[in-house]
Amino acid sequence: MIKTNQVYNYLYGPVPSRRFGRSLGVDLTPFKTCSFDCVFCQLGRTTQKTVLRKEYVPIDAVLTEIQSWLETDGDADCVTLSGSGEPTLHSDFGKVLRVLKQNPIPSALLTNGSMLVHPEVRDAAGYADIVKISLSAWDQRSFEWINRPHPQLQFNELINGLKSFRAQFSGKLWMEIFIMLGINSSPEAVKKIATQIKKIQPDSVQLNTVARPPAEEFAAPIQQAKLASLAGIFEPPAEVIAEFNANSEKHIAATEASILSMLQRRPCTTAQIVGAYGMHISEVSKYLGELMRTGQILEKRKKGDVYYAVARRGLERGLKDENKGLIGP
Ligand code: SF4
Repeated sequence: MIKTNQVYNYLYGPVPSRRFGRSLGVDLTPFKTCSFDCVFCQLGRTTQKTVLRKEYVPIDAVLTEIQSWLETDGDADCVTLSGSGEPTLHSDFGKVLRVLKQNPIPSALLTNGSMLVHPEVRDAAGYADIVKISLSAWDQRSFEWINRPHPQLQFNELINGLKSFRAQFSGKLWMEIFIMLGINSSPEAVKKIATQIKKIQPDSVQLNTVARPPAEEFAAPIQQAKLASLAGIFEPPAEVIAEFNANSEKHIAATEASILSMLQRRPCTTAQIVGAYGMHISEVSKYLGELMRTGQILEKRKKGDVYYAVARRGLERGLKDENKGLIGP
């Protein structure tokens, strides 16, 4: 967590990340501003689907916060541009990466890749140490089904943009594929995705599945064993991403325990937990994902809202933790 009492509007975390360790998030868009509306999106449905690039949040304020964080907290394994939407829609995201380039903490850009069709976006993204691009479709039809992109976006142009970016980017390019049961989980579908990925020649390919409540109920996860069996379709074989690194920091356990404690009292939505703890939605979402994955909580849908409630096993563990003094006052 941010240690000082300073309140940040555009920074959150550091949160535990599957690939980035303790990752400080930089959020450059208002909630759910994206060029896609992916069926698996953990943030829910896109409310502002757009391809308009502009200064969604004041860049000077973002840079001031980053500078202040570096001078006071400044402790993370990575600084990641991600959060409430697609970061490359912000017209000045490259300025953030250029500033981060001047300090030793590596920077990562998490993107859906759709804006990399533009040369200026490719140039700006080039300042990141790591660029992780999500690609879960193999043609226009599957693209429209899975990612529900803005109508101006074409799958072939997206692939061409990614190829052009790879040709000029000397940092680490990672690609992540979300596999969903019955949507893109057949070996035939995965082979088609692998064919597209091969054109881009990323440094690594990561297979993932739905771990947190998705935008659409039909976006169901596949079993880890099945995911592992698909990894060999890629060249070189894809990595299967575990939910969290094993060496989670103590504060992560404490935060999970705090959320669990709240859910013991009453089921809550993500927004209610965000409001109660003043944490960023991406941060809350990660903790909820871990509590779901470990079977401590379960989700209940009611009139379109997702509520989280303590599973019986989780209640027992939560009480045990409380006895150990892990749960705060
Ligand atoms: S998963 Fe990423 S690209 Fe897809 S809708 Fe959510 S924020 Fe946008």
